[in-house]
Amino acid sequence: MNSIKAVAVYCGSRNGEDPRYVKAAYRFGEILAQNGVRLVFGGGSVGLMGAVSHGVADRNGDAIGVITENLVRQEVANHRLPVLEVVPSMHERKQRMFELADAFVVLPGGAGTLDEMFEILTWKLLRLHDRPIVVVDEGGYWQPLATLVEHIIDQGFAARQLPALYKVVSSVEDVLPALSAEPPPAFPSQPKRT
Ligand code: AMP
Repeated sequence: MNSIKAVAVYCGSRNGEDPRYVKAAYRFGEILAQNGVRLVFGGGSVGLMGAVSHGVADRNGDAIGVITENLVRQEVANHRLPVLEVVPSMHERKQRMFELADAFVVLPGGAGTLDEMFEILTWKLLRLHDRPIVVVDEGGYWQPLATLVEHIIDQGFAARQLPALYKVVSSVEDVLPALSAEPPPAFPSQPKRT
């Protein structure tokens, strides 16, 4: 059983084609707020990233956004939230989000989301952390990713155990139950909270 106080959410800076993606992202923000879990996110107010943060703000939840100087305008920083940190680079943004979170949740998204997901997965593979990663396969969005991972394994470029490093759930409602069912990290890599 895991004690999760803060969750980093990786997701699209666009809405995507299917309206259910935005709806799910907003609902996940509400779920975090209602359960007293802090949102750690990219700080923007656009796309799914914005939707999660609006869900949190509308339910008076807690959130910290970490955004880069050059993205402040582009991703229209969300100033409705209690804390917005502006960092100089993407690398620092990802590092800071990593430091602040007890667990990582992946919603539908694009290249940036994949980058963030694979970085956190690679770090787990390298035993830099042992925190839970949950992929939300809303509407089957991540099925092609599951196929790609199988292909990578079949072709001998990853161990059979790779998918065991993350959990896949089909809806945002299943995320917190999945997180509390996870065993505590096997070794510490403490989040550094401010
Ligand atoms: P996307 O899934 O492409 O919409 O991107 C989602 C988030 O990832 C956005 O907040 C982007 O700023 C961020 N992002 C985009 N490209 C990168 C990158 N190369 N490294 C880290 N984050 C990125």
